[in-house]
Amino acid sequence: MRILSGTIIAKQILSSLQQQIANLPGRKPGLAFIRVGDDPSSLVYIRKKQKQCQEVGILSFDTELPESTTQEELCHVIKEYNNTPFVDGILVQLPLPAHLDPLSIIETIDPRKDVDGFHPMNMGKLLLGQKGGIIPCTPAGIHHLLIESQVPLAGKHVVIVGRSAIVGKPLAALLVQKAPTCNATVTIVHSQSLQLPQLCKEADVLIAAMGCAKYITSSFVKPGAVVIDVGINKVIQEGIAHLVGDVDFASTAPLCQAITPVPGGVGPMTIAYLLKNTLECYETNIRKT
Ligand code: NDP
Repeated sequence: MRILSGTIIAKQILSSLQQQIANLPGRKPGLAFIRVGDDPSSLVYIRKKQKQCQEVGILSFDTELPESTTQEELCHVIKEYNNTPFVDGILVQLPLPAHLDPLSIIETIDPRKDVDGFHPMNMGKLLLGQKGGIIPCTPAGIHHLLIESQVPLAGKHVVIVGRSAIVGKPLAALLVQKAPTCNATVTIVHSQSLQLPQLCKEADVLIAAMGCAKYITSSFVKPGAVVIDVGINKVIQEGIAHLVGDVDFASTAPLCQAITPVPGGVGPMTIAYLLKNTLECYETNIRKT
């Protein structure tokens, strides 16, 4: 059994980005972070992403708005960043407070600055297999991790547990593409799927993105399968908080050909791709001006 370390692969991406950015002739890429409300996890995620930005040479800009912010106020901030030439990417940290509509907020972001790749224009390009769009960070990171780990996808059965718009659906659209590094046969399952364990057990590559701590146990996994654990769940054990995935690592790992750990698997790849997408947005922005 192989452990697929996202930490190691992400480091390679970050060091290549650092070099590319150091060699840029003019201004450095800029990424704007917008956070609404006081969700402590969101703050931790943003600080982590900003630290990585600093390490590779991306300038980060910060807007923190109160919980009471209206849709109009938030859209106004986004539009200001849309029109700021030295801001190449805009990230609105999710989840947003319940009174805000995330879809119409994401639609306000200039698709060329949509580093998360959540704008309908970028999602549409991904679905169509059209070049020039921005691919959401977690799916792009998982794809890179699989390629780099020499896990073949062509003709293989990939089962994705979870149909969210940020992980499951764009990941399925990416892995099914007619391209040498994709060409997978993809099944998406969700909370309404019947016979979930049996469907998962058919997977050559099983990807769990559900948000249920250690839900996927050995009875879901075909011997010799590759298992990618996207889940990040906080659990308290003996009074101490731990992060665990959606996969029960202890029972499934001995069965697998390869498996990602949590932490240190998909998480670092997601951040690396956020920065990679920022550089892509910068290049588009520079060409435009
Ligand atoms: P969502 O809550 O948006 O989606 C979860 C999906 O899992 C839904 O489609 C849901 O089905 C499905 N699901 C939930 N419970 C079950 C179940 N018991 N059986 C089958 N399907 C189920 O979550 P996200 O996609 O945003 O995130 C999923 C996990 O990945 C979370 O733990 C999140 O923290 C983590 N994550 C990690 C990232 C990383 O970089 N490592 C990045 C993004 C997310 P239904 O649609 O029917 O409700």
